[in-house]
Amino acid sequence: MDAPRPAGRPSVIAMEALDGNAIAGSLFEYFGSEMTSVRGHCRHCGTFAPIAELAVYARAPGTVARCRTCGDVAFVLVKARGSIELHPEAFQLPQAG
Ligand SMILES: [Zn+2]
Repeated sequence: MDAPRPAGRPSVIAMEALDGNAIAGSLFEYFGSEMTSVRGHCRHCGTFAPIAELAVYARAPGTVARCRTCGDVAFVLVKARGSIELHPEAFQLPQAG
């Protein structure tokens, strides 16, 4: 199931992934406002992109959003005990927490 995947292959990511609109509901719940059009800054490659354009993998227990430019993890959403946690690994948002 969890076969190792080659790193640095954004084209593969783009084929498999959802986009940021898939987590719009969870983000709204966390931030209390519509976030998909909010732009953040990838600390890996410096790309400035709206959340709606991230590559999203909805996989238990967390949802991983990756930068489409460099393929690295931008942030992770975890739903635990009815609440949502956001782990902004490398995605700088104008507002967080
Ligand atoms: Zn990036």
